[in-house]
Amino acid sequence: MTSAAVVSMEAENPWLNAQRQFDNAAAILDLSPGLREVLRDVRRELVVRFPVKMDAGGLRMFEGYRVQHNVTRGPAKGGIRFHAATDLDEVKALAMWMTWKCALVNIPFGGAKGGVVVDPAELSHRELERLTRRFASEISVLVGPESDIPAPDVNTSGEIMAWIMDTISMEAGYSVPAVVTGKPLDIGGSEGRPTATGRGVTIVAIEACHRLGTDPHGTTVAVQGFGNVGSVSAHLMAKAGFTICAVSDVTGGIYSEHGLDMDELMAHRTRTGGIAGFPGTRSVSNSELLELPVDVLVPAALENQISARNAGRIQARLIVEGANGPTTPDADVILEKRGITVVPDILANAGGVTVSYFEWVQDLQSLFWEEGEINERLERILRRAFAQMCEQADSHSTSLRLGAYLVAVKRVADATAVRGIYP
Ligand code: NAD
Repeated sequence: MTSAAVVSMEAENPWLNAQRQFDNAAAILDLSPGLREVLRDVRRELVVRFPVKMDAGGLRMFEGYRVQHNVTRGPAKGGIRFHAATDLDEVKALAMWMTWKCALVNIPFGGAKGGVVVDPAELSHRELERLTRRFASEISVLVGPESDIPAPDVNTSGEIMAWIMDTISMEAGYSVPAVVTGKPLDIGGSEGRPTATGRGVTIVAIEACHRLGTDPHGTTVAVQGFGNVGSVSAHLMAKAGFTICAVSDVTGGIYSEHGLDMDELMAHRTRTGGIAGFPGTRSVSNSELLELPVDVLVPAALENQISARNAGRIQARLIVEGANGPTTPDADVILEKRGITVVPDILANAGGVTVSYFEWVQDLQSLFWEEGEINERLERILRRAFAQMCEQADSHSTSLRLGAYLVAVKRVADATAVRGIYP
C-alpha cells in the first residue's frame, strides 16, 4: 500500500476524525490533560457475535456493537445502524458525536451508538426480525430506559424499534416502552418523530440563510441520500421555499436546474420503487451531485462524502450536514478557506434526538403531547442552540463546527468536573 493510500485511509477513519474534532475544541477550552483523556475515549464498548437461524436452514453468524461514549449528563442515547460496512471505529465515532449533539441541544443524555455488520437487503423479513431480536437480547446487558436508549439510524426503522422494544419487554416480563425511541405510535412512539431529523435540518437551514443574509425562497439545494433524513429534509425544505434541484440514493441521483416537484417525485418513487427516471431530470452520480452548481448542499447519507479529494470543487456556499460525519476535518480546512459555511451534524441533524428525548419523556410519564407542541418545542431548542453555536464561533473567530463543539464539550467537561472522579 502506498503512503498516500495510508494517509487517505487515516483521513477517512471516522473515529480518528471525531477525536481530531474534539482535540480542536479541547485546545481552545484549555481542558486539563486528565479531562481530555476522559472525554476523547469511549466509556464502554460491547462487541457481540451471535447466530441467526436462516430461512433455508442452518445458522449464520453476525457481529454487532453497542458503544457508550459518555453518560455523565444522563443515560446514553443513540441509534442502531444495520450496514455491511459498519465497524467498531465507525460506531465509536457515532457514539462520541451523539454525546456532543445531546450536550449542544442541552438535553439530559450522554452519547451511544450501535451497529450490526449486515446488508439487510440480503435478509428476508423473518430473518431480519430474528437478527434484530437476537441483537437486542445480546445488548440488553447495556440498554434500558435509565441506562441506554437506542433509536433508528441507517437501514433501521420504526418496525425494528418495535421488535427491540418487544424483546426487552419479554425479557423483563412487562412492557418497557421507554427503552427505545422512534417506535410506532401504537406502542408509545411520539408524534413528529419520523420527520424530526428532516424538520431540524430545515429549521437550521433557514437559520443559516438568515445568518448569511440570503432568502430561502429560490435558494437551490442538492440533497444526497433519500432515506429518512434526506427525503424529509427535501420535502420540508421545498415547503419552506427552497428549490430542490437534485436528490440521490445509493443507486445514484437526478438533477434539474429548474427544481423538482417533491410531491410528484414521492409519487414516482412509490410507483417505481426509486427516484431514477423522474421525468424532466438528468441522472448524476453521487459524487457529481456534491459538485453541482447549487447554493446549498445537504449530505444526508454516510460519512466522508466531502473530503480533501472533492472539497475544492464544491460550488455550494452552504453545507447543512444531515448525515453524521459527512465532512472530514481535512475538507473542513479547505471549505473554511473557500468561505463555505458548514452547519455541523451535531446541530443540523439534532432534531431526531431532540424529539427522541420528547418521546422518552412522554413514555416515562405515560402522557402524550400533540404534534404542534412537539414541533414548536423542537424549533425553540434548535434555534437556541444555533444562536449559542454562532455566539461561540463569532467570539473565537472559528467555524460553526468549532463553535458548536465549544458549547457542547464545555457542557460535558463542566458536568464531569462537578461530579468529580469516582471514587
Ligand atoms: P436511511 O437508511 O433511512 O437512508 C439512507 C439513505 O442514504 C438511503 O437513501 C440510501 O440509499 C442512501 N445511501 C446509502 N449509501 C449511500 C451512498 N454511498 N451514497 C449516496 N447515498 C447513499 O438512513 P437515515 O436515517 O436517513 O440516515 C442518514 C444519515 O443521517 C446517517 O448519517 C445517519 O447517522 C444520520 N442521522 C439519522 C437520524 C435519524 O433520525 N434517522 C438522525 C440523525 C442523523
